[in-house]
Amino acid sequence: QPRYAAHNEPVLGYAPGSAERAALATELRTQGERTVDVPLVIAGRAVMTSTQADVVCPHDHAYVLARTAQAGQAEAQAAIAASQAAAADWASWPLEARSRIFLKAAELLAGPWRQRLNAATMLGQSKTAVQAEIDSACELIDFLRFNVQFAQEIAAQQPLSSVGVRNSTDHRPLEGFVYAVTPFNFTAIGGNLAIAPALMGNTVIWKPSATASLSNYLFMELLHEAGLPPGVINFLPGDAQAISAELLACPHLAGIHFTGSTAVFDQLWLQTAQNLPTYRAYPRLVGETGGKDFVVAHASADVDALCVALLRGAYEYQGQKCSAASRAYIPASLWPLVKAQLLDLIATLRMGDVTDFGNFMGAVIDRRAFTRLSRAIAAARDDSGAQVLTAANPDDRVGYFVPPTLVEVADPTHALMTDELFGPVLAVHVYADATWPELLKTVDTSTAYALTGAVFAQDRAALAEADAGLRNAAGNFYVNDKPTGAVVGQQPFGGARRSGTNDKAGSALNLLRWVSPRTVKETLV
Ligand code: GLU
Repeated sequence: QPRYAAHNEPVLGYAPGSAERAALATELRTQGERTVDVPLVIAGRAVMTSTQADVVCPHDHAYVLARTAQAGQAEAQAAIAASQAAAADWASWPLEARSRIFLKAAELLAGPWRQRLNAATMLGQSKTAVQAEIDSACELIDFLRFNVQFAQEIAAQQPLSSVGVRNSTDHRPLEGFVYAVTPFNFTAIGGNLAIAPALMGNTVIWKPSATASLSNYLFMELLHEAGLPPGVINFLPGDAQAISAELLACPHLAGIHFTGSTAVFDQLWLQTAQNLPTYRAYPRLVGETGGKDFVVAHASADVDALCVALLRGAYEYQGQKCSAASRAYIPASLWPLVKAQLLDLIATLRMGDVTDFGNFMGAVIDRRAFTRLSRAIAAARDDSGAQVLTAANPDDRVGYFVPPTLVEVADPTHALMTDELFGPVLAVHVYADATWPELLKTVDTSTAYALTGAVFAQDRAALAEADAGLRNAAGNFYVNDKPTGAVVGQQPFGGARRSGTNDKAGSALNLLRWVSPRTVKETLV
């Protein structure tokens, strides 16, 4: 059978007057006038609960765009039952048949569903049209397609046979359900954490982030329209601790597929460890967690390219990417120029309602993030070891707006250089040009994380030194480019150390965590 060859979905430009902009504007108007009841989906049925959580639009917090059902203990049990009931049938489907559903979903998302998901992502998660397009359209379509290609490559990996003996590998799903715990910041990540184990034949219980529950729910609906059988993925927004306690106490927990904070992944890992003797099998724990992602400039760096990378890496989507540039190391010889250019660029950035198509930044996700970031910026202003170079302050009158913030920090081990803030704050340490070798050591050892990082240099010897010196400092390493924006099928994504298990989203490596291969030897008689 010919193998399926995936291709990346082209990114639409949303230029003024374009068909896609008109379609998206219409969808934004329709969706922006309503409050959606987001239910749980258990065994394919929408379930509303007696309590709901209001989800507000981050750039216009007076507007409640979703009332999201809240699962607790009883609903978690119902989801376990639904996933168990669906498991045997789903596991018996041939890969080709499962693949057809996800390819159909890709087709629906590339077509009629595209602007529905983009609009929900813009309103619910405060993404600009371009940031929504690369997430809820392109990246999610790419995950749907590339996972199918990688799954077929895995199925084709077969052992040698010999005279009189036929050997084969049966890539079975795990026994039990996979628990997908997903973040607000990428609609595509939420989707992928649920569909990757499902494509490999597993059933899934998906706990979305409350603040992404609208876009994530629409994706659930799309999957069912594409033909996903009931119970294969069960959608369970709600009380995270109650749901986790229930699911992690179940002997059928087969794995956790997680993206979120290091602290929460630690908690899930520890809870799993406590329950270990009660599980039927060792659960697979796959997580992508925090980051404190670096941009290191050598004295030979191209300043224009560096400044654009810092601007985009640090401030696109308000810095709310695990991959966002949040610490930069600039040589003293370049700093006056970089500082002036970067401040000029920051002054051109527009922040506001993302639905007007003109703003570069929207709001941060919620009140909690706003408060955390406001405090961090205020503390930096009071800190004699830091100098805040930008004047604007956070403002939450209409939405949770945190302006692009640039801070110069003398000590490279200062908390602003080592702790994740998950917002539009870039800390810069200026180093003496001659200390480049020691600087690389500092970059490598000063944080607990190792997700993404970038080096800017035109000198090949300096690039080679950075490549070697920072080999373990990032799972995604960029040379003369920003550290964000990994593309499925091109830059498999993930990091090690305290940034996660590095099971590369959008790769065969990730899908292999969701199979439990059986080796079959047949003696031919
Ligand atoms: N894959 C995204 C990127 O390369 C980041 C994912 C995340 O924030 O978790 O920018």
